[in-house]
Amino acid sequence: MSVIPAKPVLVSDETPKPAEVARPSREQALEAVRTLIAWAGDNPSRPGLIDTPKRVVDAYGEWFDGYDADAGKELSRTFEDVTGYDDMVILRDIEVESHCEHHMAPFLGKAYVAYLPGEKVVGISKLARVVEIYARRLQNQETLTNDIIDAIESHLQPRGVAVLVDAEHQCMTTRGVHHRHVSTITTRFTGAFKDDPALADRFLKLAKA
Ligand SMILES: [Zn+2]
Repeated sequence: MSVIPAKPVLVSDETPKPAEVARPSREQALEAVRTLIAWAGDNPSRPGLIDTPKRVVDAYGEWFDGYDADAGKELSRTFEDVTGYDDMVILRDIEVESHCEHHMAPFLGKAYVAYLPGEKVVGISKLARVVEIYARRLQNQETLTNDIIDAIESHLQPRGVAVLVDAEHQCMTTRGVHHRHVSTITTRFTGAFKDDPALADRFLKLAKA
């Protein structure tokens, strides 16, 4: 198990945002898959592979539909009536299905998200949706952890947020070092979770209970 504390990632102003890169046509995407099949050493025209580019492009549509979704919109509908509840709200075992930006290989695992509500609370399914939106983009696990925290911080202005992501990276298990069953854990705490080690500890115990 490797533990990497996630740090805020500063992106330079010159980095093109995904939306500023023109999307190729579907035909161009199909052609790119044919090229990769040939690069792997097979014949993209043989019967078993003839429809594969279509399936791959459709799968990309699902795996990367987070680019067309807006986490802020999911968190915009908030409630103020929490009838005096003032402890953390924690979601455990949120499925993470993502792809690393280094190899475009899947990384699969779970996310644990907690926040201490300030004035605003949000429907709990929305927190799982935020994880899904960022997971369905290309990134690394540290960035995923940061993106989830930053979205909750900026839209809910809570007293604190805690996120833990625990995932297995197939770029590590199926290639390169071929280490099976190695999981990577990233954590980040803000606000009260950062200031109060006892609260962070409670989160970690509840998350992994
Ligand atoms: Zn990778």
